[in-house]
Amino acid sequence: MAIETVSPSEARRRQHRGAVLVDVREAHERAGGMAEGALGTALDALLEAPGGVLPDRDAEVLLICEGGKRSLACASRLLEAGYRRVASVEGGTRAWAAGDLPLAYPAGDPDFHDRYSRHLRLPEVGEAGQRRLLDSRVAIVGAGGLGSPAAYYLAAAGVGTLAIADDDVVERSNLQRQILHTDERIGVPKVDSARQALLALNPGLRVEALRERITSANVEHFLEGADVVVDGGDNLPMRYLLNDACVKLGKPLVYGAIDRFNGQASVFDAGRHRGVLPCYRCLFPEPPPPEFAPNCSDNGVLGVLPGVIGLLQATEAVKLLLGLGEPLAGRLLRFDALAMRFRETRVPADPGCPVCAPGRTFPGYIDYEQFCAG
Ligand SMILES: [Zn+2]
Repeated sequence: MAIETVSPSEARRRQHRGAVLVDVREAHERAGGMAEGALGTALDALLEAPGGVLPDRDAEVLLICEGGKRSLACASRLLEAGYRRVASVEGGTRAWAAGDLPLAYPAGDPDFHDRYSRHLRLPEVGEAGQRRLLDSRVAIVGAGGLGSPAAYYLAAAGVGTLAIADDDVVERSNLQRQILHTDERIGVPKVDSARQALLALNPGLRVEALRERITSANVEHFLEGADVVVDGGDNLPMRYLLNDACVKLGKPLVYGAIDRFNGQASVFDAGRHRGVLPCYRCLFPEPPPPEFAPNCSDNGVLGVLPGVIGLLQATEAVKLLLGLGEPLAGRLLRFDALAMRFRETRVPADPGCPVCAPGRTFPGYIDYEQFCAG
């Protein structure tokens, strides 16, 4: 059966005549503004118990989402469920807003105001900043030692979409530091375990779990739409690949690395600031030959150390998303846990850098040999 679609202005007219308008997007999407007078109920919740929101199956129902796709799918499900007069708003809330129809902000959104109240009280973040975080997308490579704490805090902070890639499964030896995972989830793919932990903390988020190793073949697809990229993988081939992709795509890369009792972090933002800020290759143009590379699986690491470095990465990611403060770009921060000391070195952009030098054409990706499992 063909589903009726109506323009936003027609929906507005019908709304005035008594039609019920239902916004079926997720709460965090509705927080950015919804068609005035619409009832907000996420698609899944609505379809689970439509009678709770729409008791009268003969009433005229109009469905609206972000761009018109979800509302159309929802309309078809409601017709199957016995509703007789259902239509979908063409172009969704985007078209509604573009047509200058009135928007309302769910100020009474209790989750938003409660959950983020400590952010909302900071004038530097506030409601606009929090909504910006909710609209943001951060790509995190690795759900291990660094990726775990980084992702956990980014989810808590309300970064709306987290894309996480990892091809490993949870092992018992991970649990000493990879805090997204639990004893019960040993053997489960890390991305699934991560997704479970992150959504348990903040159910309104979107967590995209990619159970793949990132290579030259999928790196650009994975980084698509990311506002900030977090390197939580702590392995050399990945670090070079992410660096090169981020330079090419003009995305800030938040770097972290750990070994034994020492860690380091920086932000590489050369793609957006050619010749001004460095990339990772300005620091280390090529990886060492495999026989000289550290063998990470043999080296120990103090369990709390990735927590410190991963949270420095999360901090930088949030600052970058909000445009707050001074990013750790052009500076390498080293941490010595035993001495409890931070040291900072300046990292200049290398005018001869093979990847980020101004005017340099992109040399293409290199998949270096995997030295060890991150
Ligand atoms: Zn460079």
